[in-house]
Amino acid sequence: MSHFVTIDLSHPTGNFWIDNGLIVLIREFGEGKYEADDVLQCLLDKLVQKTGNKDNYYDEATGQLREYEKMNWVYPTNLFIKVAGNPGKKVKLNGKEYPTQPPKFELKIELRKKLDVCDLCGDKAPLIDAKMWMFPLIVDPNKFGNFYSGAKRGLRLCARCALAGLAGYLGWLWKAQGRDVFHFFVFHSDLKEMERLHREVLQPLRVEGGKGGNAPVAFFGPYIHETTLGLLLALFAHIRQSDQLSEEGRRYLAALFGVDTDSTLPSPFTLYAVTGVPGQAFDMKALREFTKFQALYHLYDRWVNIMSQKPRVDNPHQQIVRILQQFEAHQGAKRETVWRDKIAWAVLEFNDPFPFIEQFLFEVRAKEQNPRPLVWGTLDVLDLYLQEVLGMDEQFPTNPGRLWT
Ligand SMILES: [Zn+2]
Repeated sequence: MSHFVTIDLSHPTGNFWIDNGLIVLIREFGEGKYEADDVLQCLLDKLVQKTGNKDNYYDEATGQLREYEKMNWVYPTNLFIKVAGNPGKKVKLNGKEYPTQPPKFELKIELRKKLDVCDLCGDKAPLIDAKMWMFPLIVDPNKFGNFYSGAKRGLRLCARCALAGLAGYLGWLWKAQGRDVFHFFVFHSDLKEMERLHREVLQPLRVEGGKGGNAPVAFFGPYIHETTLGLLLALFAHIRQSDQLSEEGRRYLAALFGVDTDSTLPSPFTLYAVTGVPGQAFDMKALREFTKFQALYHLYDRWVNIMSQKPRVDNPHQQIVRILQQFEAHQGAKRETVWRDKIAWAVLEFNDPFPFIEQFLFEVRAKEQNPRPLVWGTLDVLDLYLQEVLGMDEQFPTNPGRLWT
């Protein structure tokens, strides 16, 4: 039975994942009314790809084995979408089991007949029980019982939200460390601004083709705050100058972060950062919202200006990155970055990072045989933070000895 969905920029759901998916649909199809199954098929064609491997199936018409190219959900959606390909009937031949068709990867929008209120957009429409292929955060009703009311009985979505949810996997920024840690990032605000952000900024800056992720980051680690700060620093670098963004895109990014006060300011943005471990179900460890971009960019801008005045610094942005990146320890083959994450949390929240810096110095540097000094320029960066953020006028007060120099 055909069912039509309306895709437009004037009906946001307020849910960051679904709205992110609506942007993908708008960018793919344009605003309009579409047959739900056609939209679904188009998304499937993008999300299922050849793996490069081959296998055999038993062709019942000819009674012969035939080779086919194996397909699967494109990485990293295969960590979230667990629907297997349908192999048709299976037959046994010489002791081995074969499918009777190349496994077909299908998803179905099976709507209930009765109209009810969609849990995410509030429309009265035929609904479908939400699965992880529509919404990665569906899996743990206990965790989300408060976050999404009604989640205890499972979310129910209208066709439009279900399709937008699937499309969300094509519009997120993500960063993965194998199967151990998975971060994803979604910006959220009104749909028109978000469409422009995707078109002019995120699309050109997206890193393609790697298994490590598509989010541009100055540095990253297993924790959420350090990786979020790494993402923001990478975006900030393009405000001052960019070889990847158009002039319009660069100015838009500046306006977005509240730098370019001449232009009409877009409404305040929120960045949602989610960290978890992918598996049969996505095990979410953290979900954070960040909003203080304007003040953060101002701080970054002041830091870059300080570094620009130092003759020995070639690339002020890169020096800031080195300074913020340094709070990590190499323990054998393993890299521990817990101090950097705490410091990043403090910076993102305009809190006091100094206890964590001292912790790093005592727990890491002081234990090294020949403690390395802090990266050149660290004290300048910290002094400015003391004055601008913590409102302290004096020079950096504590002196844990030679480690600071
Ligand atoms: Zn809906």
